[in-house]
Amino acid sequence: MSREYDRDWDPDLYKKIDKYNSVKNLEQCLQCGKCTGNCPVAAITPSYNPRAIINDILAGSTARILDSDEIWRCMKCGTCYRGCPVDISFTSLILELRFAALESGHGQKYVVPANKFVFRSMEYGINFVPGKRGMERVMKLRSDMGVEPFPKVTPEAIEQFKAIFEQTQTLRYMEKLKTDTEKPLRLSYAEGRIVNE
Ligand code: SF4
Ligand code: SF4
Repeated sequence: MSREYDRDWDPDLYKKIDKYNSVKNLEQCLQCGKCTGNCPVAAITPSYNPRAIINDILAGSTARILDSDEIWRCMKCGTCYRGCPVDISFTSLILELRFAALESGHGQKYVVPANKFVFRSMEYGINFVPGKRGMERVMKLRSDMGVEPFPKVTPEAIEQFKAIFEQTQTLRYMEKLKTDTEKPLRLSYAEGRIVNE
């Protein structure tokens, strides 16, 4: 692990990351490790460790978190939250970490490719719309089951969906990400740690 200096540490990191106050109880973390023990990503990726990420945030390790690939590994399944004895929502924390990383110029490569889904969902008024081939398969499957080939969404609902995109400035945000200069991520976050192989 590269050497860390105290100037790289920020005692207010937790407050800065939890901008939306969505993980108010992070300081109650017991460091018990149940989140890591139950996590399917950690089971196949020895460097990935939600407990250690929480510890580093509370310690203020700015330099090692926002520019790390690790925070992009979580698939937000929520298993960690279900097993946490003090109800810490790690998935909310990961979302806030990713926003903070994007604001610092890291991680666009994980978000920009998903833009097409966002634009498509706005057009159809539902959260996830498959591409052409996926759509054909979904429609066939649904038809075989005897239900409508694709869920119908009323024009009013689509308008409301679009209005939410506009009010939250999501489109502008996604467009900006495409043009922002991306800084490289580092793979050194977990180097030097003892991990279970
Ligand atoms: S399970 Fe909860 S209390 Fe235990 S380490 Fe994970 S976040 Fe902290
Ligand atoms: S939400 Fe993320 S950190 Fe939690 S168990 Fe699922 S993959 Fe692991």
